[in-house]
Amino acid sequence: MSQVMVDVHGVHKSFGALQVLRGVDLQVRPGEVTVILGPSGSGKSTLLRTINHLEKVDRGWISIDGELIGYRRSGDKLHELREKEVLRQRTHIGFVFQNFNLFPHLTVLENVTEAPVSALRRPRKEAAGTARRLLARVGLEDKADAYPRQLSGGQQQRVAIARALALEPKVLLFDEPTSALDPELVGEVLEVIRDLAATGTTMIVVTHEIGFAREVADTVVFMDGGLVVEQGPPAAVLDTPRHERTRAFLSKVL
Ligand code: ADP
Ligand code: MG
Repeated sequence: MSQVMVDVHGVHKSFGALQVLRGVDLQVRPGEVTVILGPSGSGKSTLLRTINHLEKVDRGWISIDGELIGYRRSGDKLHELREKEVLRQRTHIGFVFQNFNLFPHLTVLENVTEAPVSALRRPRKEAAGTARRLLARVGLEDKADAYPRQLSGGQQQRVAIARALALEPKVLLFDEPTSALDPELVGEVLEVIRDLAATGTTMIVVTHEIGFAREVADTVVFMDGGLVVEQGPPAAVLDTPRHERTRAFLSKVL
């Protein structure tokens, strides 16, 4: 395994004239949890999306476990990967969205087995066994045959986490996984993420849950204006931030 699991190096990304990422550097070591904080529009989702190939970077590069994301190096040039290689790389990266994004016409079990069967060509029976084990892990073994609409938001998000885990990803990315939930359902989802952290899953979590960041993060990263403004251990960034912009943000969310 590479010393650095996720390596983001000088990443720039614009949408038309809007510069959304302006030279982001970020390193996540295996087994570590990085929590990204920052105001709306600061580029947090775009950063996660570039890591998961949902956006192409304009400048800079990203690697996962030593493998360049979206590119192959040849001499000092970067060549874009073909679609098939991109899809293969993406199977190493789990993504959990704010709005769950479950397949509505599939049962819970089918949601979790879909990608292993279609992308990894796992036998359906084996995939179903793994899925049941993962559903038990997120506390939903009794919901295997339910449809997403029959579940609460918190349960749907826990299925989405099981689905992401089914690909045995090298890294799990969460984009505000509890923002769409009623307040009483936030805890059960954070509990699952906390459990993953305790078992050494490498994760990048965008969230506004400061208490969770303090408790679970190895590193807290504060982004603003498309840049990493400040990063460090939770206590340093949350209790004694060095930058005025971090202080201003924290005073609003704490
Ligand atoms: P955050 O997740 O921190 O709120 P985002 O990464 O979603 O920030 O967005 C950063 C900025 O980029 C916002 O101004 C947003 O409107 C803009 N943006 C994001 N995606 C696109 C896109 N596909 N096309 C145009 N603008 C976009
Ligand atoms: Mg966002």
